[in-house]
Amino acid sequence: MPERTAMGEATFRGIPVSAGVCVGKILVLGQQRVQIERQAVPEEDVPRQLERLEQGLLATRQQLHDIQHQVTQAMGAKDASIFEAHVLVLDDPTLLEGVTRMIADEKVTAEWAFHVVAERFANTLESLPDDYLRERVADLRDVAGRVVNNLLGHEEAVDVANLKAPCVVIAHDLAPSTTARLDKKMVLGFGTDVGGKTSHTAIMARSLRIPAVVGLQNVSHQIHTGQTVLLDGFTGLVILNPTDQTLFQYGQIEQRQKSFEERLREIHDQPAVTLDGAQITLSANVEEATDGAEVKLAGGEGVGLFRTEFLFLNRSTLPSEEEQYQAYRQVAADLKPAPVIIRTLDLGGDKLPNLVGIAQDTAEMNPFLGWRAIRFCLQESAIFRAQLRAILRASAEGNVKLMYPMISGLEELTQSNELVEQCKAELRTAGVPFDENIEIGAMIEIPSAVMIADSLAKRVKFFSIGTNDLIQYTLAVDRLNEKIAYLYDPTHPAVLRLIKHTVDAAHRHGIWAGICGEIASDPAIVPLLLGLGVDELSITPPLVPPIKYIVRRLKLAECQELARFALECESSAEILARSQGIVSRAAPDLFGSLAL
Ligand code: PEP
Ligand code: MG
Repeated sequence: MPERTAMGEATFRGIPVSAGVCVGKILVLGQQRVQIERQAVPEEDVPRQLERLEQGLLATRQQLHDIQHQVTQAMGAKDASIFEAHVLVLDDPTLLEGVTRMIADEKVTAEWAFHVVAERFANTLESLPDDYLRERVADLRDVAGRVVNNLLGHEEAVDVANLKAPCVVIAHDLAPSTTARLDKKMVLGFGTDVGGKTSHTAIMARSLRIPAVVGLQNVSHQIHTGQTVLLDGFTGLVILNPTDQTLFQYGQIEQRQKSFEERLREIHDQPAVTLDGAQITLSANVEEATDGAEVKLAGGEGVGLFRTEFLFLNRSTLPSEEEQYQAYRQVAADLKPAPVIIRTLDLGGDKLPNLVGIAQDTAEMNPFLGWRAIRFCLQESAIFRAQLRAILRASAEGNVKLMYPMISGLEELTQSNELVEQCKAELRTAGVPFDENIEIGAMIEIPSAVMIADSLAKRVKFFSIGTNDLIQYTLAVDRLNEKIAYLYDPTHPAVLRLIKHTVDAAHRHGIWAGICGEIASDPAIVPLLLGLGVDELSITPPLVPPIKYIVRRLKLAECQELARFALECESSAEILARSQGIVSRAAPDLFGSLAL
């Protein structure tokens, strides 16, 4: 239920997924949903229904290819790849077999059979305890709706690509294909009843830079086309009939935001150096071949984490060595001479591939404790070797470094290094160029790796602490489970001691240690990380400017004093409050803006 005020304002709370604030008239989509009814057909009509099904699938495939083409032109191949996943739905043999069987056995129309079977699939996916699969339901329903519309000969009710006036779109759910076609000039923002942060719709909104809020429960039934709304993609608020006072307050925040962004632009080319002269490296986390441009735009000093597994998701076949090489080479060449740390495959956990040729006979009980990352790679050595060769080849084109995820013991490191040496020998023999001195590092994200950090440090050139996993494995808190999210505590004294232990071991052996988990982009924690002695922070590109702004206003001596206090303190809340206090005093304007 919305919160109402006496002035007729109503506030709905959802999940913010794409930053920005907009005010405008609402356009509610999807209220005129097509009703499909069960319609029996005579036995002799069954072949015609099968033929219609074939035609409907063909038309849908053509539409999806057209959309993919349009999106590639407008937004690049990265976003258009989502439609490959849609085409895969059309190719799903179990789905199609279910539909044809239903037409033949129950003697019903093609549209009814497709609707029923696709809904069954969607319901099964929805009930799985896996966020990623649940969010794929939107893709399935999107494609199913398209097929049914084609079979019925219906046009889309509202053509979102050709809107006549600016509006804020509200819908129960917005299919990724609809989102991709939204007219950016006319759609000021959008809100949906359902959805999560990693849904394709949310990803699209961020790419389009349209403010968006999802998970608004049943907002689409409580507001109407033509009403005025303010949508805040920073905090997840949707305010219906905003009062003059609300609009005034938002106007002021917007002003502060603009002047703060101006200050961030001024330090774009400056280093991340504290007031007392301590410099740290501020790099960025990336996922795609084309992300180098964004890193440069943000003022990042290279890539601290290239999550290569994203090249393996949303597709049915493995990327070849050549395809991988082209992706790694592109980032390395775009950022040269800045370093690009390419992490080898971290598939598993919540990043499940859908690849032919990878044995996935049984669902794992505990995927985060299971067949993941380096464990997967050492067993699937052909996949690992292809990736290692691609990374080595890319090292000839820029400042490439290689990093292994999820190292839990020495054996994994030595086995991986042996494979690297074998790949190097192959390339040498074939006369393929690569950097003979490529640096190899290890992610430290499992408590056992922290405890043997001295042994690991002797064998690698750097550490990158993966706090996303280190926190979950230290505190036994599943990083995806919202029920125990309150226990996921980055300033827990145990976590801080593990970070300190890792950094000290690195320094004792003359190597550097960075952090590439999400806590590196939490402004309140930055003083603590600096005080603990980390040499590098690697964060999502849009947050590089505000984090650099904070670093440049801190004093290392004060951060070190904070760290000394934190390592003795028993209360995580007290540690966090102190660290946050330092940031509030050093950069008071930061919290008044909407930059974070
Ligand atoms: C981490 O665990 O902190 C990390 C950066 O790796 P990922 O989030 O990809 O597991
Ligand atoms: Mg990790």
